[in-house]
Amino acid sequence: MRILHHGAVNGVTGSCHQLDVNESGVVSSYLIDCGLFQGAETAGRSSAQQLQIDFDISAVQALIVTHCHIDHVGRIPYLIAAGFNKPIYATTATAALLPLVIEDALKIGVTRDKKLIKAFLTKLKSLIRPIEYNQWVVLNSQMNIASPHCDVCSVKLKFKPAGHILGSAYVEFDLIGAAKHRVVFSGDLGATYAPLLASPRSPYRADTLVIESTYGDKNHQGRKHRSQLLKQIIDKCIADNGVVLIPAFSIGRTQELLYEFEQIISKNQDSEIWQQIDIIVDSPMAAKFTEKYLEFQELWDKEAKKVVSTGRHPLDFKQLYTIDSHQDHLAVINYLSRRSKPAIVIAASGMCSGGRIINYLKRFLKEPTADVVFVGYQAQGTAGRDIQTYGPQGGYVILDDDRINIKAGIYTISGYSAHADQANLVNFVKRMHHKPQHIRIVHGDEPAKQALAQKYQQLLPDCEVVIGKI
Ligand SMILES: [Zn+2]
Ligand SMILES: [Zn+2]
Repeated sequence: MRILHHGAVNGVTGSCHQLDVNESGVVSSYLIDCGLFQGAETAGRSSAQQLQIDFDISAVQALIVTHCHIDHVGRIPYLIAAGFNKPIYATTATAALLPLVIEDALKIGVTRDKKLIKAFLTKLKSLIRPIEYNQWVVLNSQMNIASPHCDVCSVKLKFKPAGHILGSAYVEFDLIGAAKHRVVFSGDLGATYAPLLASPRSPYRADTLVIESTYGDKNHQGRKHRSQLLKQIIDKCIADNGVVLIPAFSIGRTQELLYEFEQIISKNQDSEIWQQIDIIVDSPMAAKFTEKYLEFQELWDKEAKKVVSTGRHPLDFKQLYTIDSHQDHLAVINYLSRRSKPAIVIAASGMCSGGRIINYLKRFLKEPTADVVFVGYQAQGTAGRDIQTYGPQGGYVILDDDRINIKAGIYTISGYSAHADQANLVNFVKRMHHKPQHIRIVHGDEPAKQALAQKYQQLLPDCEVVIGKI
């Protein structure tokens, strides 16, 4: 067995890992995710280079998708264009979301031709195999145990809830030959106390673990009080009647925020401002994903289900406005510029690397009454990271080649990440009954990977802990 990486090793984006196994003398490969590079990780590569599949896919037997974030699935169209014609395994919810995400990616980055998009989506859907959580699927069963070359005679996989976004999973591979070897790919792991979805539970066993390390060197503060913290910051932002911009991914973060805002509104019945504030989701994609979150309510955690059972609608309440067309998007920006009443706008992309948030930032970053609240990870080289870094010192950011001086208030709520923090990542391993002999750390900036490697080495002195390289 060997594991190769085609992304998410020099940073957090472009996730694409390859598991090679020797099945009866023949090497079979399985890809885990096929995501887009973003931010600094695109530096030095032309856009064609970032997208092209620069590795041999002739032995690839299947693609396994951990979750629908674009940095985990965005290169799928290019994989298919390169000739990939094998099953794509994903959880049922991810399978439902994937065509929406890919459709959006095609429209933004490839073509607006409806016929081409439709044909491509038909092809994609024909390859997707939805799998329930906690169910073993046999990928390739040679069952030729007598073969002298048979290191691995059967490969099985199972998805387990990762608590990161709807449908997200970590993947267990069982490689069964003379002995059993379990390889676990973490995908992106959710944090504890995150809204809507339950936190991930550790696998019973992993022999080899490939794990993300986005927050491998940090612990989120005040997760239990995230709602209060969000309210405190928003209260401060709206005291001057300004607009509050929250860059957020359409899947996951937007729904978590809606859940939180509904809760704040519900708990603050006597606050005039909270009973009247407009909450605007300016993203047709987010609206579609919110529908999917509603459709897959069985995947919500206990707390969220309890809220629903009391007759409340956490993702669908009266102060919530969803903006669909581009025309309405522009009209809302104009409307918000003219009035002096607070409003909260949630728009993608989460790292300000494109999407409708850019028009809001271009209009409102120069306004002292406006505020930007970051609630998610900002990768190096993204506009989001620049605003977060230079904004509080009165610096500037370049958006669409324009230099924008930042006068708006800039806030970061660190307790809000959709990613496990260092303690969560350590516990993920600590709570396994059968602990790994090999750990490979991916999906993080260098200091995060180093810090997490050190933690794992302390925890398991006999384990081989390495940092993934291309
Ligand atoms: Zn993710
Ligand atoms: Zn990721």
